Amino acid sequence: MKIYNTLTKQKDEFVPLVPGKVSMYVCGPTVYNFIHIGNARPMIVFDTVRRYMEHKGYEVNYVSNFTDVDDKIIAKAIEEGVSAQEISERYIAECKKDMEGMNVKPATVHPKATEEIPGMIRMIGDLIEKGFAYDVNGTVYFRTRKFKEYGKLSHKNLDDLRSGNRSLLVTGEDQKEDPLDFVLWKPKKEGEPSWPSPWGDGRPGWHIECSVMAKHYLGEEIDIHAGGEDLVFPHHENEIAQSECCNGKPFSRYWMHNAFLNIDNRKMSKSLGNFFTVREISEKYDLQVLRMFMLSAHYRSPLNFSAELMEASKNSLERIVNAVSNLKHLAEAGAEGEMTPEEQKLLEELASYETKFDEAMDDDFNTADALAAIFEMVRFANTHAGEGCTKAFAQAVREKIAELSGVLGLIVEKEEEMLAEDIEKMIQERQAARKARDFKKADAIRDELLRRGIILEDTREGVKWKKA
Ligand code: AMP
Ligand code: ZN
Repeated sequence: MKIYNTLTKQKDEFVPLVPGKVSMYVCGPTVYNFIHIGNARPMIVFDTVRRYMEHKGYEVNYVSNFTDVDDKIIAKAIEEGVSAQEISERYIAECKKDMEGMNVKPATVHPKATEEIPGMIRMIGDLIEKGFAYDVNGTVYFRTRKFKEYGKLSHKNLDDLRSGNRSLLVTGEDQKEDPLDFVLWKPKKEGEPSWPSPWGDGRPGWHIECSVMAKHYLGEEIDIHAGGEDLVFPHHENEIAQSECCNGKPFSRYWMHNAFLNIDNRKMSKSLGNFFTVREISEKYDLQVLRMFMLSAHYRSPLNFSAELMEASKNSLERIVNAVSNLKHLAEAGAEGEMTPEEQKLLEELASYETKFDEAMDDDFNTADALAAIFEMVRFANTHAGEGCTKAFAQAVREKIAELSGVLGLIVEKEEEMLAEDIEKMIQERQAARKARDFKKADAIRDELLRRGIILEDTREGVKWKKA
């Protein structure tokens, strides 16, 4: 498996620190509003990376934070006359709803910055002790020049950066030793959330949050660190400086960055006001369509949002859903018995598409080509699985298409059908309970089904069900 690594500027073979395990940190959103579909891009892309790794048998420890203390959160809280915590809690809950709609799996842990303050104070203290940070009147700065490798991720030269940052000298930050130094801890302002620290009451800078949360949940050295490409500099560059100077070892081995989601070829962003929230999109489309849209491009290519592309994604998704639905019908109505020799031969062709899928994903997660392989399977199904095929063949093709779509996080089995399967399962459980003379349990299952609007009928041919 090859991953394009921003650090080395090339595709590197993925070798985890611990065989069979992956530790992955993805920078999450600042929660002061509904997330927009630009924020959704890293969520969908890196969830897909995670799913593919799990499909390959890795155990993935996936950590993604919520930044819940920030100027924008505080500004929104003041605007509404509520606490900053109320704002962040509200939008964390809304963000989780959107994630569920996009079928983004919950992270192993979703740490919140405000719950990790003691770790941040410890790391800042360590950095001061080691000479990498200094306190001026309650503000703690990182001594950037002291870290000789500063700039290695963004491939920037310190002297160029210095000349580009001269303006900082006149913006009230002239207490810094050097314009390149950045904030680790800032002093309390009236009316803002704050925490006590050895440098006075205050709150952490943004960069230190991620260094600390990654260390807490994944350790000092991790496999993958990811986020949108706007985070390469300064956020991730600063994270590397803090973590490596504090821990004395390399921080993350692979750095992955998604390109922007644009609108009219400009980055979609809150500040430009050119955004659609995920919630707005969900009013018009199933969010699976949004997921399909995001995966139709390589994650390192800019993607321009348009109504036409969304319509095309909707049609693409429908093609898969229809093929799977047709296969399900054939798997119920097809011929009994084993697959014919011709069908067994055809499965080799199907396997060749799975190989294509894997090759595409192994090549830096080329989801566009992986989707193309799924569409070849759909074409294969529409050509070779028809009336007269065996149940076993239809089922095998259906399972493969649903499985690989699922690796991309696409739900391609219609909800009614999933429901039907669940009902059948519960009916079987009820039959088993009856057989075991556990009538209490059998009745409980019947009542539960009734509660969900399903009526059971015991007939001579067995149990039948209908919708109430
Ligand atoms: P923020 O809440 O601005 O810190 O962003 C959360 C995540 O969304 C970060 O990984 C950003 O890089 C990413 N992001 C923000 N806007 C876009 C966009 N237009 N396209 C792709 N990723 C974005
Ligand atoms: Zn971060």
